[in-house]
Amino acid sequence: MTVVAGAPELLDAWEAGWDRTPLERGLAMLAAGTGRPAAELARLTIGQRDRALFELRAALFGPALDGVSSCPDCDTDVEVSFDQGRLLGPPLQAPYPLPTSADVAAALADGDPCDALVGRCSDADAEQVVAAWAAADPLLDVELCLSCPDCGRAWAESFDIVSYLWSELDGWCRRTLLEVHDLAAAYGWTEPQVLALSAWRRQCYLGLVRS
Ligand SMILES: [Zn+2]
Repeated sequence: MTVVAGAPELLDAWEAGWDRTPLERGLAMLAAGTGRPAAELARLTIGQRDRALFELRAALFGPALDGVSSCPDCDTDVEVSFDQGRLLGPPLQAPYPLPTSADVAAALADGDPCDALVGRCSDADAEQVVAAWAAADPLLDVELCLSCPDCGRAWAESFDIVSYLWSELDGWCRRTLLEVHDLAAAYGWTEPQVLALSAWRRQCYLGLVRS
């Protein structure tokens, strides 16, 4: 995937996604990152979408994933840090069609989303289909195995690339708007003028303004 997003596109995706569902946020970020229409990206399977989101975040923020969880027994903070490449094995062949974002969106509008989702992809037994999906693509249900350095408790924690990347984008956009604010206030530049500066040059001016 070629990442085409610059600062204006990323800010647009953030603005478009802030009051949206996680499903829509995932597509908005990917559309900004790739320049492809969201309707086309909605036809990717969820596993394909997530691989593309991992690629996008590696291009924007690097491959290292960091986070903090807390031990369910003793409440100690446990730091998590790993390279995202460890999660990205190739998908296996699924015996049933894998669900896409469009399938999930349609199923969520139904009273019984799980049955509706399975029904859109296959008429086989729901449990069998869901188990086959999980086996076919490990990215559909990512769990991190964590252990507490204090009490030794081990547990599994779900990892969701959409919400992880969204919170990174949220932090980046808020920092960027603050930079625009500081430079606009100091020099009278417009937002597009500030965003058109290279990241390096912007930091140089911020160094002058904030010193
Ligand atoms: Zn503990």
